[in-house]
Amino acid sequence: MLNTLTRKDQLKHMQEVDYDIVVIGGGITGAGIALDASKRGMKVALVEMQDFAEGTSSRSTKLVHGGLRYLKQFQVGVVRETGLERAIVYENGPHVTTPEWMLLPFHKGGTFGHFTTSIGLRVYDMLAEVKKNERRRMLSIDQVLEKEPLVRRDGLKGGGYYVEYRTDDARMTIEVMKRAAEFGADPVNHVKADAFVYDKGKIVGIRATDQLDGETYQLLGRRVINAAGPWVDDVRSHDPEAKKGKKQLQLSKGVHIVFDQSDFPLGQAVYFDAESDGRMIFAIPRSGKTYVGTTDTFYNGDEKEMPAVTAEDRHYLLDAANHMFPGLDLTDSSIESTWAGFRPLILEEGKDPSDISRKDEIWEADSNLITIAGGKLTGYRHMAEEIVDLVARRLGSDYGLKFKPSDTKHQPISGGDVGGSENFRAYVRQMADRAPSFGLTVDDGREIAQKYGSNTDMIFEIAGNLKDTAASDRYGLPPAVHAQVLYSIQHEMAYKPTDYFVRRSSDMYFSIDKVNQYRDGVIGLMNSILGWDEETRTRYEAELDRSYLEATRPAMEK
Ligand SMILES: Cc1cc2nc3c(=O)[nH]c(=O)nc-3n(C[C@H](O)[C@H](O)[C@H](O)COP(=O)(O)OP(=O)(O)OC[C@H]3O[C@@H](n4cnc5c(N)ncnc54)[C@H](O)[C@@H]3O)c2cc1C
Repeated sequence: MLNTLTRKDQLKHMQEVDYDIVVIGGGITGAGIALDASKRGMKVALVEMQDFAEGTSSRSTKLVHGGLRYLKQFQVGVVRETGLERAIVYENGPHVTTPEWMLLPFHKGGTFGHFTTSIGLRVYDMLAEVKKNERRRMLSIDQVLEKEPLVRRDGLKGGGYYVEYRTDDARMTIEVMKRAAEFGADPVNHVKADAFVYDKGKIVGIRATDQLDGETYQLLGRRVINAAGPWVDDVRSHDPEAKKGKKQLQLSKGVHIVFDQSDFPLGQAVYFDAESDGRMIFAIPRSGKTYVGTTDTFYNGDEKEMPAVTAEDRHYLLDAANHMFPGLDLTDSSIESTWAGFRPLILEEGKDPSDISRKDEIWEADSNLITIAGGKLTGYRHMAEEIVDLVARRLGSDYGLKFKPSDTKHQPISGGDVGGSENFRAYVRQMADRAPSFGLTVDDGREIAQKYGSNTDMIFEIAGNLKDTAASDRYGLPPAVHAQVLYSIQHEMAYKPTDYFVRRSSDMYFSIDKVNQYRDGVIGLMNSILGWDEETRTRYEAELDRSYLEATRPAMEK
């Protein structure tokens, strides 16, 4: 289980196991592999050098989508595959994916017209085998403005209306990881793979360092999979054979900017083309905020941990939003927070970033190192199936081992056991009604059930146990927050305040007020349980403040 309190014991135990697979990277790709492989009966170790999902998998546009824009580039295969996967991902985790009707307005002189939108969305529906009640509709000018009065009226000719799914990418990754652990995988965060272990020229494991205390470990496995996202080339550089491979990564930076609804009161998700270059951009309302993204620009720097959001990035998005939603007059000072990530794309000489295929690729080196890169959050399950199939074949021929075929299509992720997507709303209502008997409000209950799905019981129980103690008061935290922090430590391997505020709660992006309000209480509570020394506490506080500053800087530069 992902328990921070037993993390060191787990690491010691991991040294004793002969794994079938050692995965490097705890983003959605690594998590998906751990789930697919462990469900087939393979022994799986996974190391993540930062927190789970701290790389690209917490920095996406947060959509589980078929990638309508890829249709424009005739990447029909990608649209079909991700479109079909969309439905599977939703069904297996309705608590981390929510259907979101998307408005696609078209204007005189824009990329799309009535005909192209109508045909494009129809093809999209067919490729993705969209359910009848979610198929596209075409809207008149009045209907577009009724759905979203903020849309530019000048030159408006109509719109398309179709469904995508909104997700919390970091929580989705963590829920996949938790389920993998339930099937026997051993994932551990804040542990960096820094060298390979060889036997007769073949990789048979990794050496790794615990980033929290500097202790080193050796983990052995029959195959090592490099699922390090933007860092796959850094990992490959440790192996002379993998280094010889011709394929290379090309990183592309993607930025999002977040507004409070008081500045950008968008009621309806809108997908529109930027006036300056015709690229497609999302504007999405969520939890009292509206976010706009993304950019897509080549990045060749070395700093990959915390991609910087430049004035150019912000102004590109501000210009695009101000053009599509005139009258708002959004400026730098209206931006409340931002986030940015790197797309790990496969280099295709001479192509613009937006034109490079999002298809995943797998490379095998003579040293047996297997690398996977590219792809999308949405396609994680299918990618995992593909790569674990390959490993199963290799372990069959090298060791005579046999494993079950992939079986994740109908496998709910952790929290997803709510009786299917159709039952989810009823489940949330039912849990919200039960919340008061655990010392929580009905609203708390609803919010928790919506976020944690079928794990809600566990959080309620923790909250119930707090009722009779003065524990909550000591840190000035409401029981709902207190219980979620404890749950994140005991069941989701949160160790640092940023682990909680950025990737367990998403407060850093969507409830910055909660970060302001509960910062000291959460730090105090985590410290009381995890027993950091003074220097460590100061470092973590500084890390949280840096992350806060990164997220809010544009808003502060008034
Ligand atoms: C701006 C943007 C928007 C996007 N929007 C969408 C979207 O809306 N929908 C969608 O489906 N997809 C989207 N994507 C794509 C999607 O986010 C990525 O394809 C996916 O998150 C990649 O996951 P990953 O696990 O391969 O990489 P990552 O999430 O980066 O995971 C790799 C992990 O490896 C770890 N690591 C690296 N080196 C080591 C080491 N030596 N030892 C241990 N660990 C190591 C890193 O810390 C990192 O956490 C978007 C991407 C970007 C950048």
